Amino acid sequence: MKKPHVVVLGGNFAGLGSAQKIRAYAEDSVDITLIDRKNYLLYVPNIPAEVFENQDPEKDLTMELYPVLKKDNVNFIQGEINGIDVDNRAVTYIPAERPGAEPQSIQYDYLVIALGNRLAFDKIEGFAEFGDTVSDFYHGNKLREKLHNGTYKGGPIVVGSALFHQGNGAHGLEPYPGGSIPDALAACEGPPVEVALTIADWLKRHNIGDASKVTITTPGEMIAEDAGEKVVGQLLDAAGKMGFNYVNNTGDIVRLTEDTIEFQNGQKIDAELKILFPDWVPHAFLKDLPITDDQGFVITDLYMRNPKYPEILAAGDCAAVTVPKLGAIGHQECDIVGRQIARDRGKMSEEEADQKLKPVVFCIGDMGGGKGFYIRSNSWFGGDTQVLKMGRVPYMLKMQYKTLFMSTKGKTPPWGNEVAEFLAENL
Ligand SMILES: Cc1cc2nc3c(=O)[nH]c(=O)nc-3n(C[C@H](O)[C@H](O)[C@H](O)COP(=O)(O)OP(=O)(O)OC[C@H]3O[C@@H](n4cnc5c(N)ncnc54)[C@H](O)[C@@H]3O)c2cc1C
Repeated sequence: MKKPHVVVLGGNFAGLGSAQKIRAYAEDSVDITLIDRKNYLLYVPNIPAEVFENQDPEKDLTMELYPVLKKDNVNFIQGEINGIDVDNRAVTYIPAERPGAEPQSIQYDYLVIALGNRLAFDKIEGFAEFGDTVSDFYHGNKLREKLHNGTYKGGPIVVGSALFHQGNGAHGLEPYPGGSIPDALAACEGPPVEVALTIADWLKRHNIGDASKVTITTPGEMIAEDAGEKVVGQLLDAAGKMGFNYVNNTGDIVRLTEDTIEFQNGQKIDAELKILFPDWVPHAFLKDLPITDDQGFVITDLYMRNPKYPEILAAGDCAAVTVPKLGAIGHQECDIVGRQIARDRGKMSEEEADQKLKPVVFCIGDMGGGKGFYIRSNSWFGGDTQVLKMGRVPYMLKMQYKTLFMSTKGKTPPWGNEVAEFLAENL
């Protein structure tokens, strides 16, 4: 008997994590193929820390996919995916090792979509000439050069996000009793908070200023609102005492010039450096499929399955339910995907498998100077937890988590989070 074929689209955090969980729970009852255009995992969360320490992030923050997948008997195709035929259960792609390859197609019995999103810097006018970010190696190194080779002259700095267009795909879901997946105006605001805190420390260490040179902006009423009002209140209080400037309700970013940033609400702020996080936009070929919402995010229930096509599952940033676009929520979703497929294959009981997503904002950020912040919160979704800790332990945990992730090849043990929680909240 031919085994059911699971095709996983995307091989970063959510794709690799899903493939590993499916293999762990469904064992050898399925064949698995993973497709990604690149053949390595890009470990995004530590790029800012490397940039401010003047280290090339590319050196330490990649993990080759092929040997890691081979250990779990997962086939790997390096290919550019360009279409999904949901009725004929087929994915089209172009092999991506060399340009000019012929289009190919692959059949699936289960499809796991873990393709992340386009980080739409191309929607921000003037970004190419005057913008910076830390979301990948190229941009991280560009900013590193500016900071460390003297191009940056010590002028004002703005750190902020563009307006996020969320889509309606998670409306009506209730992850906690009486809760919901609310609409966010920014896709992921942990990184801007982290960058603002670290760059202020960097200015101090280089004797060219302090937090008063940095303005943090948000398109929303409150930055990082998904962390909960109490946590954000504490964060803003601490940031205010450090001297940061804070501007909310900016609306979208309209334009960058050499010395300014302009917002939809009409505000124009002087800024030599503009370190920005864009709109997270679904890939064009996902839009208008019967499995995606009005923006192109993949619709799922809280078991990460598409209601119309239950053989299609999603995890990570491309799923409509993943708000904010946080790797930690994607991590929870990979486990659910693995359990669902294992249940279908008779490898797990219904009771063990049917564990709904209960999103938790779990975010550990660098603050510079060997300190960090730690947030564990679910109140935005209707839960009752809001924890914020700041100090040396969260910094240590952030750095150790990367080491653990790399050394276990993405299979961080379940106790990893529990130990982190215990240390951060009790020491
Ligand atoms: C600066 C920064 C710091 C962050 N820090 C944190 C943090 O501390 N904690 C946290 O939890 N989250 C953090 N995040 C968010 C986190 O990085 C994302 O939530 C996470 O990367 C999402 O994982 P994913 O696998 O869903 O998507 P992605 O990481 O975007 O991966 C998508 C994969 O799909 C592949 N792909 C896409 N399109 C195609 C195609 N057409 N064909 C073939 N392959 C394709 C890509 O090559 C990629 O490998 C941070 C984000 C940024 C930008």
